[in-house]
Amino acid sequence: MEKGNYMKKVVKFGGSSLASPEQFKKVADIIKGEDSRRYVIPSAPGKRYADDTKVTDMLYQCHELKENGKDIKPLLEKIKSRYNEIIKGLGLKLSLEEEFAEIHRQLDAGAGSDYAASRGEYLNGMVLADYLGFEFVDAAEVIIFHMDGTLDVDKTNELLKDCLKSREYAVIPGFYGKLEDGTIHTFSRGGSDITGSLVARAIHADMYENWTDVSGFLVADPRIISNPEIIEAITYRELRELSYMGAGVLHEEAIFPVRREGIPINIRNTNAPEEKGTLIVESTCRKPRYTITGIAGKKGFAAINVDKDMMNSEIGFGRKVLGVFEDNGLSFEHMPSGIDTMTIVVQQSEFVEKEQQVIAGIHRAVHPDIIEMESDLALIAVVGRGMKATRGTVGRIFSALAHARVNVKMIDQGSSELNVIVGVKNSDFETAIRAIYDIFVTAQL
Ligand code: ASP
Repeated sequence: MEKGNYMKKVVKFGGSSLASPEQFKKVADIIKGEDSRRYVIPSAPGKRYADDTKVTDMLYQCHELKENGKDIKPLLEKIKSRYNEIIKGLGLKLSLEEEFAEIHRQLDAGAGSDYAASRGEYLNGMVLADYLGFEFVDAAEVIIFHMDGTLDVDKTNELLKDCLKSREYAVIPGFYGKLEDGTIHTFSRGGSDITGSLVARAIHADMYENWTDVSGFLVADPRIISNPEIIEAITYRELRELSYMGAGVLHEEAIFPVRREGIPINIRNTNAPEEKGTLIVESTCRKPRYTITGIAGKKGFAAINVDKDMMNSEIGFGRKVLGVFEDNGLSFEHMPSGIDTMTIVVQQSEFVEKEQQVIAGIHRAVHPDIIEMESDLALIAVVGRGMKATRGTVGRIFSALAHARVNVKMIDQGSSELNVIVGVKNSDFETAIRAIYDIFVTAQL
């Protein structure tokens, strides 16, 4: 162990890192390998193999069975055996019998689905604390939600600070907290990342390490590009652009607490701890290896083109058009525009049901010359701080797409020059991503 290290790190481990005794051992080695790894946030046991079931999903199922008046005992026993496998494999003396009896009682008494799901992290936290010899802190004591389910940021920060001031090492389960009235409440799925971020902020951590089963953020989706490169360093803003477009690894809401404090996040791989992973920072002078940092995209968009002669001189035109979307409860994703035309890009699945109301509304609001719609579009974001002031980036994207015979339907470049968004047909999505990856990454290797 590295001693004399006064740095403070918060380390969060995802479900697959804590799914079996073998994984627990790797986690303990990582934690004990550095004295600075003081506050540990575990997820519930995840999948041990590809078609295994996550404990969280089993717990949700338990609650559902109860709601339907079915017997939950067999499923609870199955969940218990997942923990007992870990406890036995680690040679611990801990017994969770009482805890499981209490969970059964609570579910019988009508406890909600959040309570059920939260027990996955709660119990895993107890096991991990016992194994590490760290103190266990119930997240319900330190993570507080308002009655409408939003996080009470200040109260949570205060409680975490107070609680951890006197504890040098602790395990705090992820994913849940409690409402002001004491009811257990969870974040959305994958929310242990948020707990980790909140703890890091409260203790002014030097680093928030987020340990998972991949070696960091990948430049592109591995389902489309085989063996994509790993991003070494990425800024919060770049990450936000890529996550918005579907690149997952970290819960989106996990960024905000640490970002406010300027605490870097390091995505690491529990199964390959020697790798450095991806560092997420506020800003960096590290040059990205390639002009682009990453590519991500999503299918299933529709574009509504509104044309009207002299639109540009009609004050309030854009507001009125967007007002129609607002009135119909639709948010828009992008809005590229020309002189006499504006395009509103929306999620197709949300839009279809309201399509005719929206069209009628636009007619009434601005009397356009033409409204045209295009469906089955995919948006691809090419993101990178290195694109700023680099000549020819957009040219290279277009020439790559042209060579791959992909027709570009739309383009949107923010003036921050951090990203370029191209719209293509859904059916061209994969080809387009491969073409862009090849020109910027493969060609540079
Ligand atoms: N266990 C929860 C889930 O499966 C939360 C988490 O892992 O972060 O979503």
